[in-house]
Amino acid sequence: MNYQAVIGLEVHAQMLTDSKIFCGCSTKFGAEPNSSICPVCTAQPGVLPVLNKKVVEFGIKTALATHGEVCDGSWFARKNYFYPDLPKGYQISQYEHPLARGGHVEIETDGGKKKIGLTRIHMEEDAGKLLHDEHAPQSYVDLNRTGVPLLEIVSEPDINSPQEAGAYLKKLRSILRYLEVCDGNMEEGSFRCDANVSVRPAGAHELGTRTELKNMNSFRNVEKALEYEIKRQVQVLEDGGRVNQETRLWNDARDITESMRSKEEAHDYRYFPDPDLVALTVDHRWIEQIRQSLPELPDHKVERFVCDYGIPHYDAQVLCAEKEMADYFEAVVRENAPPKQASNWIMTELMRELKENRRDIADSPINPVDFAGLINLIEAGTISGKIAKTVFSEMAKTGKTAQEIVRSQGLTQISDPTRIEEVIRRVVGGFPKEAADFRAGKERLLGFFVGRVMKETQGKANPQLVNDLLQKVLSEP
Ligand code: ADP
Ligand code: MG
Ligand code: ZN
Repeated sequence: MNYQAVIGLEVHAQMLTDSKIFCGCSTKFGAEPNSSICPVCTAQPGVLPVLNKKVVEFGIKTALATHGEVCDGSWFARKNYFYPDLPKGYQISQYEHPLARGGHVEIETDGGKKKIGLTRIHMEEDAGKLLHDEHAPQSYVDLNRTGVPLLEIVSEPDINSPQEAGAYLKKLRSILRYLEVCDGNMEEGSFRCDANVSVRPAGAHELGTRTELKNMNSFRNVEKALEYEIKRQVQVLEDGGRVNQETRLWNDARDITESMRSKEEAHDYRYFPDPDLVALTVDHRWIEQIRQSLPELPDHKVERFVCDYGIPHYDAQVLCAEKEMADYFEAVVRENAPPKQASNWIMTELMRELKENRRDIADSPINPVDFAGLINLIEAGTISGKIAKTVFSEMAKTGKTAQEIVRSQGLTQISDPTRIEEVIRRVVGGFPKEAADFRAGKERLLGFFVGRVMKETQGKANPQLVNDLLQKVLSEP
């Protein structure tokens, strides 16, 4: 039997506010344990929460950027559960009345564009962190993270494969980073994802029973966990069994998901409106102001790059995944570098260099002006593409401009046909057997001769000329 996977994702995105959601404590990552705490976020008797306006603004931004609707009124609710990292015994969240509903995130799939619907976006506070001592029979609680603002972004079950889930997460992360509301760091946990997944016979209307997967801290792990879980559920059904509704943990060491607990139901949490916080009504003029202030978002930028710069859609997508990368590209093009050349060089050499050195584009070793200088030297025929790679590495290492390096190392391309022909005649003369074989029809030997000539000229000969002149010389009787 054929099965279809159905996936819905819950993303928790940590907001980049300076202070927590209901008190003035700092949200800075990596502070001394229990140094960013106060009576409010440690739940001392008698304290009252006060909502951080910035969190609401960030939530509205996110809703507008994903085409959702900000609700007229929204409430905070208490989600009750008992755990040592939760000093109040409940988490302030939103339940029946979230900040926003609807909207979508568009992704690319093998079958074209696809809109993944959003169910809701709501605000909530994070819990603290438990540190387990491996050697002593005790655990520690760090409450720095309690009260750090989160947006929970819940998708409709519109996702049908692990690849689509990955594409959705990357696009959502990209949008949040464009908006500067979340840094999207999955390893540090500022962008976390729980994945709900079920399978059903292809063509069936009813959804199958879902499991909820947790503990994946990279895009790759989300995809791997989903792949594993889909196979597992299909196997259970094929064996005549039933899938249990439960929460399962991704075990990164073993590449499997493991049952953690049976899934709690909403009623287990005894949600009720938080009496300490008033209902939230958002002024429509404020929403409009925020709408006006939205930056250009990835989808739009991609279309514009294709239109304005004539680069392939694929290139535009790669460049626009990060706003800083897109800005870098535009800065290079502003220096009159041909767009397609610029995108080629950014997507290959520059991105590889950054990756190897674990650097962001923001601290690229080569600035856009110098980068354009390199591309323009290739365009002008001053250096060959091959030499340009050497020049590029040298630029990254020394911070010198392409012009300086080419001049001081004598790397200028040889484009004088007479000089090249001289070398060619010498090379061909040195390999009479190969030359005869070529003339007898062994055309692949052309590559051999090109290589020899390039070697003789330390890679500086203009490759096109070398090719043309070799053909000419070799075809002489
Ligand atoms: P909970 O808090 O119980 O996890 P939420 O409503 O916050 O519930 O999230 C439910 C998530 O699970 C949503 O992303 C939704 O699309 C997804 N979902 C619901 N039912 C199914 C199902 N049968 N198969 C896969 N995903 C599902
Ligand atoms: Mg859930
Ligand atoms: Zn506090």
